[in-house]
Amino acid sequence: MFEALSDRLSGALEKLTGKGALTEADISTALREVRVALLEADVSLPVARGFIKRVEEAAQGRHVVKSVTPGQQVVKIVHDELVKVLAGEDEEPGRLRIDNPPATIMMVGLQGSGKTTTTAKLAKRLKEREGKRVLMASLDTRRPAAMEQLAVLGTQIGVDTLPIQPGQTAVQIAKRAKTQANLGGYDVVMLDTAGRLSIDDELMAEVEAVRDETRPRETLLVVDGLTGQDAVSTAENFDGRIGITGCVLTRMDGDGRGGAALSMRAVTGKPIKFVGLGEKMDALEEFHPERVAGRILGMGDIVSLVEKAQEQIEAAEAERMMKRFQKGRFDMNDMKAQFDQMLKLGGMQGIMGMLPGMGKLSKQLDESGFDDRIIRRQIAIIQSMTKAERKNPDLMQASRKKRVAAGAGLEVQDVNKLIKMHRQMADMMKKMGKMGKKGLMRGALS
Ligand code: GDP
Repeated sequence: MFEALSDRLSGALEKLTGKGALTEADISTALREVRVALLEADVSLPVARGFIKRVEEAAQGRHVVKSVTPGQQVVKIVHDELVKVLAGEDEEPGRLRIDNPPATIMMVGLQGSGKTTTTAKLAKRLKEREGKRVLMASLDTRRPAAMEQLAVLGTQIGVDTLPIQPGQTAVQIAKRAKTQANLGGYDVVMLDTAGRLSIDDELMAEVEAVRDETRPRETLLVVDGLTGQDAVSTAENFDGRIGITGCVLTRMDGDGRGGAALSMRAVTGKPIKFVGLGEKMDALEEFHPERVAGRILGMGDIVSLVEKAQEQIEAAEAERMMKRFQKGRFDMNDMKAQFDQMLKLGGMQGIMGMLPGMGKLSKQLDESGFDDRIIRRQIAIIQSMTKAERKNPDLMQASRKKRVAAGAGLEVQDVNKLIKMHRQMADMMKKMGKMGKKGLMRGALS
């Protein structure tokens, strides 16, 4: 998987990691090479462009972390961007929504994509790893050989298949499968729908009818990973018409260029759930964006080095803040640092969500509208203050408030609110500072 892309990317970035200092020209040369590497891997142009743009922005915005070289930092940024491109949010790799038995998984895709093989591989996996009782049914009424193929695979892996009854339509078979699953106490029904050589209306209409009849919990599109951008447009088509919940990329064991994997999420918004890595029944893997990004870049050491350095810096920053609080100092700069931190941790909800028992409160905050936008507004107000005002918020008299409000595009009352919030936070910080680190923990828990 991804060998060629991996070689090119690491080639482009290795030149950077060796250097002590980087010029803008160094970075832009490297990123140009990264872009070419992506395009050669058959990543679509808009996706490659977006990728480079975000890396550039991140590279500019990042403060220099001491103890790692700028080149190493760029590697980390490229790595993080790869993970983002490969993964969506809140996705757990390989997780399928199959509670509430019997749950239907509908497998869709073009003929020859590996749909039947993947159906059996997945059934085997659900049986062996999750202890599910699975029933498979082939709906490919036009290709008796495909029905036979599923039955043969079923026997091979010890998973039941619905007995073949010639003359039934796809919808009739799907209905029979559901009834059988209910009667037989199966946890999962896997429907291997018909495939065609290319997308046609008849096929789509049939799959739609099956979908409406069975209301599948998961609709997985099986696409041949070797077909690059075609795989992505197939996914767009199926998603537009049927609505897919994810896809499985097959033949990722080949020397494919891997572009499909990189474009899929960005273009369709749907996650890659599994990848097929061979013809054998065990050759199916969960798709872990982190691991795949690591494999593509092949620079895991550098990535973890930078992560550690960043953690240390954050710890040092926290220590520095604590010392300031102990001295009773908490100015607008400190407050801004707190807000920045909040945004980094995913806003108020993100922070609250992490604290035990705070889930509900975080929801209330959500409803009250105290979200990232509000944090950003506070930051905008602080940024409109002069250096002196930030250091000494007591300077903020009426005319200054007016100026700051105008600068931030807000009202004076917004500035007043911020100043009040600052005072409250400063008081709290002073108290916490006096308690010291241990006291802080106790104070927070009581
Ligand atoms: P269908 O027409 O979509 O049902 O495709 P099949 O499941 O019959 O698969 C077509 C061919 O592709 C078979 O020879 C499979 O063994 C092969 N195949 C399926 N998945 C993979 C994979 O991940 N890697 C490789 N190398 N071959 C695969």
